[in-house]
Amino acid sequence: MIVNADLHIHSCFSRATSKKMVIDVIAPQAKLKGLQLVGTGDGLHGKWLKIIEESTIPAGDGIYSKDGCDFIITAEVEDNKRVHHLLILPSIEIAYELREKFVSINKDNDGRPSLRMNGAEIMDITHDHDGLIGPAHAFTPWTSMYKTFDSYLDCYGKKPDFLELGLSADTKMADMIKELEDIPFLTNSDAHSPWPHRLGREFNQIEMDEVSFSSLKNIFKRKKIKANYGMDPRLGKYHLTACSKCYHIINPKKAIEMKMKCPECSKIIKKGVDYRISEIATWNKPHHPYHRPPYIHILPLAEIIAMTYSKGVTTKYVQNIWEVLIQEFGNEIEVMINTPLAEIKSIDKKIAHSIEGFRNKTLIMIPGGGGKYGEIKFPEKNLDKYFSKKRKININ
Ligand SMILES: [Zn+2]
Ligand SMILES: [Zn+2]
Ligand SMILES: [Zn+2]
Repeated sequence: MIVNADLHIHSCFSRATSKKMVIDVIAPQAKLKGLQLVGTGDGLHGKWLKIIEESTIPAGDGIYSKDGCDFIITAEVEDNKRVHHLLILPSIEIAYELREKFVSINKDNDGRPSLRMNGAEIMDITHDHDGLIGPAHAFTPWTSMYKTFDSYLDCYGKKPDFLELGLSADTKMADMIKELEDIPFLTNSDAHSPWPHRLGREFNQIEMDEVSFSSLKNIFKRKKIKANYGMDPRLGKYHLTACSKCYHIINPKKAIEMKMKCPECSKIIKKGVDYRISEIATWNKPHHPYHRPPYIHILPLAEIIAMTYSKGVTTKYVQNIWEVLIQEFGNEIEVMINTPLAEIKSIDKKIAHSIEGFRNKTLIMIPGGGGKYGEIKFPEKNLDKYFSKKRKININ
């Protein structure tokens, strides 16, 4: 069976996360989005593990179900060099064991604990417990593996089980690095809220005989991910080199000359993922290995609706249209990629026009950087044609 899996989210116990990030809300939202398998996130947090136990039914081999949505235990941890790692664990019991093994400085204060251990130590303990581990958002400029190291060997001493691309990179970019040719890539949302512009904004499509931890592990081992679905990397928060305070976009070489100090506001400049990859790249164009699945660019439908009607992405107005479309066509992938435009037109002409722009790649992308998401907008001529005045929507 084909399974859409988002394996990196956070619970209500992580910092700056919605109080709605609880199983009872995530499960129905995941289904509407078209996800069948979701990582619980925060799987080392005592209270969260208890909520998972109370709100789900064990469905065998590391799977916990709630109303037709399957969960697998995942966690993100920060190591002693501030590098973030994503862990996928075989069961709740193992998660409880790992809580005791990891030396944490803030256990249960934050869903994403900071460990007094390095990447290699965290990897060894995770592997000793049959878990899977790889760098989270591997290229971002604050807390990623490639921010700190030029090679995964310097971080782990050996090959990670996977690498999470993060919102600001895609396969085309990462496949310029030779050492990654043997590693499966993951595309996950890192959602901090359950709403459809966050949860499942990136996900992995996999084919499983049965949804279980062992079959997921096997898929990584055999590098059998079917497709990566993700945002255009230009829309990520850290795609270009930019100031972390005023978001002024700066030529990366110039930024280095200026010792990463912003000429506008003198705050710190953050190196863009595009430039960081160019620094560590082996080739100047992608060399996709035989096993690399297609990377399909997708945009949250809610962002498209918000842009079309100039409404906030979390407003009831946007939510209502979103629900009508999902009810009619099944899930977001159907609406964004597969449903004939004529059918969408019969429900909402303007949305059909926007989705046409997305499919034809004629929407304009204004790249993000420094911590600010990129923006999408209509090409000017279409704007004039369809709307009375020019609008620019920030997809934050
Ligand atoms: Zn992180
Ligand atoms: Zn995270
Ligand atoms: Zn600045």
